[in-house]
Amino acid sequence: MNPDLYIVDKGSMKIKSIKVNSQDWGYFRDLNTGRSVQRDIPKEKKHVQKLSDAEITKLAELAVKVESHYQKPQDLEWAIEKDRIYLVQTRAVTTLKDAPAQVSQIDTAASAQPVESTADKKVLTSGISASPGIAFGKVKVVNDMNQLDKVLKGDILVTKMTNPDMVPVMERAAAIVTSDGGITCHAAIVSREMGIPCIVGTENATEVLKDDMEITVDANNGQVYEGRIAVEQSAKPQAAAVSEQEIITGTEVKIIADLPQLAEKNAATGADGVGLVRIEFMIANSGMHPAKYIHDGKDEEYIRLLVDGIGGIARAFAGKPVWVRTSDIRTDEYRNLKGGDEEPHEANPMMGWHAIRRGLDEPRILKAEFAALKRLHEQGLANVGVMLPFIINVDEVRQAKQMLREVGLEPGKDIEFGVMVETPAACWIIEDLCREGIDFVSFGTNDLTQLTLGIDRDNQKIAHLFSELHPAVLGEIQMVVQACKRYGVKSSICGQAGSNPKMAEFLVKIGIDSISANADAVHKIREVVAHTEKKLVLEAYRNKLGFVKRK
Ligand code: PEP
Ligand code: MG
Repeated sequence: MNPDLYIVDKGSMKIKSIKVNSQDWGYFRDLNTGRSVQRDIPKEKKHVQKLSDAEITKLAELAVKVESHYQKPQDLEWAIEKDRIYLVQTRAVTTLKDAPAQVSQIDTAASAQPVESTADKKVLTSGISASPGIAFGKVKVVNDMNQLDKVLKGDILVTKMTNPDMVPVMERAAAIVTSDGGITCHAAIVSREMGIPCIVGTENATEVLKDDMEITVDANNGQVYEGRIAVEQSAKPQAAAVSEQEIITGTEVKIIADLPQLAEKNAATGADGVGLVRIEFMIANSGMHPAKYIHDGKDEEYIRLLVDGIGGIARAFAGKPVWVRTSDIRTDEYRNLKGGDEEPHEANPMMGWHAIRRGLDEPRILKAEFAALKRLHEQGLANVGVMLPFIINVDEVRQAKQMLREVGLEPGKDIEFGVMVETPAACWIIEDLCREGIDFVSFGTNDLTQLTLGIDRDNQKIAHLFSELHPAVLGEIQMVVQACKRYGVKSSICGQAGSNPKMAEFLVKIGIDSISANADAVHKIREVVAHTEKKLVLEAYRNKLGFVKRK
């Protein structure tokens, strides 16, 4: 949120300036449950100064004491309760002299010396941190697709919401800021894979940020600042003490890899394979809608496009499984591709004509995708598996298997074959799905959470309610994993939640076979998995010896 800003002269202890920013909501202690609850702030209180002048001075005095104790400027965290200030953390501000290294790697040319801290800087907008990192650059607001060309390398792409057509432009951007979207929206998914700092769901980015404004995007903290400034970075996730090779896990840790151009980089993480290849991004890069390829009789061109893209990923991960999802194209996402304007208009595309239901309605599209996989196998890339998205009926699986046979691949024998579990329906019919004959399931928790909780995953207004750790979602996952164990079917996850350490811990405990994480989270998840497995083994050993459990 956009906090108040108080500046105090540490020589005279006089308050030099007070800037009060308005807040729409806050966290309050619920007196009944003792929990924090989010409440709207009444209109008359929104603009009230948060600390009294006396509190500001008292806090500044404390800050000076701590600074003199450590002989270095400090970044303090504190809390106030009934006139008492509690200091809860302090650490040296290390960015004051060597700040340039912490600003965008992309923008090294413009090496002005950013030496200020964020404390006195103007926050232009703020939102949800979707992909970590800090970048500086010029704003380019894209309101419609004709404006894409104005985004040059190193600019900050500002838009309402990205879509797959924007991928090439997103790659050029130093950072991305959107008005809409939650943690699993398109911008969030793609920027994480590209390693580009991204803030989503600001609500007003396209209004308050104007073309050519110079801004700093602190996507670690969800803040957009005016001008170029230094922002202190906490330790980067990659800067881990233990190297990749030293961590051995029983549960496989895979990666989500949608972009062929990043395949080598993704493979260098040492991931145990690719748990999800979304072919939509290669399609978007080609500029043409799959339905258009097929309607124009260009099936062969579509096949070649997929063979090239998937082939690049499969080769980079040679010898490791690479699970390719058949296309999952919502009718509102691809309008700007050639032929996309012929897509039907749906009131609710998230729950509309996409994924396997579309593939079976337009079998030439699905068949072309299967034919591409067959060619990859002929090229020796037998590590390529296939999975079907948004399954709700066993019959969908049956029909798709028949189509695979028609291109010359026997599911389960010639090619690893699985389904995504991303609808509550798939959870409830899991035994039937297993009996039909599948090698694996993969949880698409983005959709599973959306459909289980009834929360539009792209609606930032309710993003705070979107939780894959909701007991209903965890219950479904556990039920499915247990059923899979009974039928000898492998279980996996490829939704965003696989990058969440808490979810990873839960999944290891219930016995999942593999977890797929975003590129930037692979290492962390591997650590969490290894740690959880060790604890489980020790617990089992102690139980075996009959140790009494410590309280
Ligand atoms: C999911 O729903 O979790 C998933 C991986 O698919 P997508 O995000 O592409 O809908
Ligand atoms: Mg999905």
